Amino acid sequence: MLEADFVIIGAGSAGSAMAYRLSEDGKYSVIVIEFGGSDVGPLIQMPSALSIPLNMSLYDWGFASEPEPHLGGRVLATPRGKVIGGSSSINGMVYVRGHARDFDHWAEQGAASWGFADVLPYFKRMEDANGGENGWRGHGGPLTVQRGSRTNPLYGAFVEAGRQAGFELTDDYNGAKQEGFGPMEQTIRGGRRWSAASAYLRPALRRKNVSVVKGFARRVIIENQRATGVEIEVRRRIQVIKARREVIVAASSINSPKILMLSGIGPAEHLREYGIPVIADRPGVGRNLQDHMELYIQQESTQPITLNSVLNPFSKALIGAQWLFFKSGLGATNHFEAAAFVRSRAGVDYPDIQYHFIPAAVRYDGKAAAKAHGFQAHVGPMRSKSRGSVMLRSPDPRSKPVIRFNYMSHPEDWIEFRHCIRLTREIFGQSAFDPYRGKEISPGSHVQSDDDLDAFIRDHAESAYHPCGTCKMGRKDDPMSVVDPECRVIGVDGLRIADSSIFPRVTNGNLNAPSIMTGEKAADHVLGRTPLAPSNQEPWINPRWQVSDR
Ligand SMILES: Cc1cc2nc3c(=O)[nH]c(=O)nc-3n(C[C@H](O)[C@H](O)[C@H](O)COP(=O)(O)OP(=O)(O)OC[C@H]3O[C@@H](n4cnc5c(N)ncnc54)[C@H](O)[C@@H]3O)c2cc1C
Repeated sequence: MLEADFVIIGAGSAGSAMAYRLSEDGKYSVIVIEFGGSDVGPLIQMPSALSIPLNMSLYDWGFASEPEPHLGGRVLATPRGKVIGGSSSINGMVYVRGHARDFDHWAEQGAASWGFADVLPYFKRMEDANGGENGWRGHGGPLTVQRGSRTNPLYGAFVEAGRQAGFELTDDYNGAKQEGFGPMEQTIRGGRRWSAASAYLRPALRRKNVSVVKGFARRVIIENQRATGVEIEVRRRIQVIKARREVIVAASSINSPKILMLSGIGPAEHLREYGIPVIADRPGVGRNLQDHMELYIQQESTQPITLNSVLNPFSKALIGAQWLFFKSGLGATNHFEAAAFVRSRAGVDYPDIQYHFIPAAVRYDGKAAAKAHGFQAHVGPMRSKSRGSVMLRSPDPRSKPVIRFNYMSHPEDWIEFRHCIRLTREIFGQSAFDPYRGKEISPGSHVQSDDDLDAFIRDHAESAYHPCGTCKMGRKDDPMSVVDPECRVIGVDGLRIADSSIFPRVTNGNLNAPSIMTGEKAADHVLGRTPLAPSNQEPWINPRWQVSDR
């Protein structure tokens, strides 16, 4: 029987960071259970291929939402990485810590010791930042972060247009000042995707006390309210991996609540419905599902300088060859090289809208590229009040869970999204874009009234692939909390969760960085270490926030 001190389910963003830290001093053995396979090969390693693996059953769990009632019954893809490195191996490689106030809000909601002052030292510990604000960034950590070369003039036009519209500029949204227009950061190193597998798991596997077992985790084994191991399926055979100290679930916001419910931890009624013996009645398991949605606002370019000219097979082959031999050129970037974080209105104290800008008119999934030259902004509100759930479809561990996001179910979602579209038009309308601006491709200049904008949003809003919150961290006496602030599952000993499922609320940006930070910090809790000393650095808050949106 396989056995280790710590058994981690999932070699994703958080699980890989945990494996690295828990094994660091050589005292404890660690087994990581991972269902996905190798991340070797250009489809994952070449940054510009980012739209390919997320569509492949080899690398993606293939989840989808139920028909979404507020989006005309559309079913939205919910990709989650099924590969070494988890979602960090199929993601867009954008690097955003989140806003300081996000973490302060976590602490206010009951995640004591997860305020910005507490988490900033962990962000620094994990980083090896190239560029960024002095004193705010980490250097020498496992996770390399870089900025793109921004050689295409459209990146500069986007940032300048933000300035012309009266918004702030920021040279480092991961430093003191998130608010503003500026360069975007990427988890890319030496021209390759720098996933959690590259940064953490592979270095950890060089140690004798860490191993990965390829298998499908079915449930956590719990005896006398204590987790003692994990039941896995390997080539149709059921096996048990024993945990001498603890089991840590790091299987993502979709799979972690599912595994918990299959193990008898969740809403009692729901478990009984499927004949699962109830070990801990935790109604919060699977609830509090949140995500970011975004729209692509596309504009034709009058100059033939966009990436649309290299979307043909011949150019792609050349780009691929240059990347294969030299790890350079257009293959070595994710093309997200300019960004903005802005506030939607006066009275909002920190940004609640995020922009990604790319010098191409193309869908995220690589499909349906516009025929003309174009550029586009991905824009969406960051703090939707809509909430959904992840529930069991059947007691069979192999069946996919029932995912209901309830996207756009809060009336404010519509107001916020309409504002996002109008604001993007204002930015693209600035003189910085005069040399490039052609006609609006999408939504199209005929889409102006609230009703027309709503119809466009209903048909075209997409997930930004940031589901989280389904095993919320909070106070022990909050019935909706699933884990306490040390990531311990409430009501069961020897069991923790550490991944994006424990976020009390979605952060202001993409979720790889906070997921890795969660793994880093949780590891210190598991080891009983004194947490890193809190920081006294204060974030920049716009002095005009009460009277202006800019
Ligand atoms: C297409 C896409 C694009 C994204 N773009 C960005 C971006 O540009 N920047 C950014 O910051 N974030 C991005 N994200 C989000 C970010 O990558 C994730 O939020 C983050 O990686 C989640 O980390 P996690 O540790 O919670 O889970 P994951 O990284 O998903 O790890 C979970 C792991 O557990 C394994 N697992 C699950 N169930 C089982 C089981 N039963 N048995 C064995 N193994 C199991 C999975 O295979 C996986 O390896 C993107 C996500 C996607 C899907």
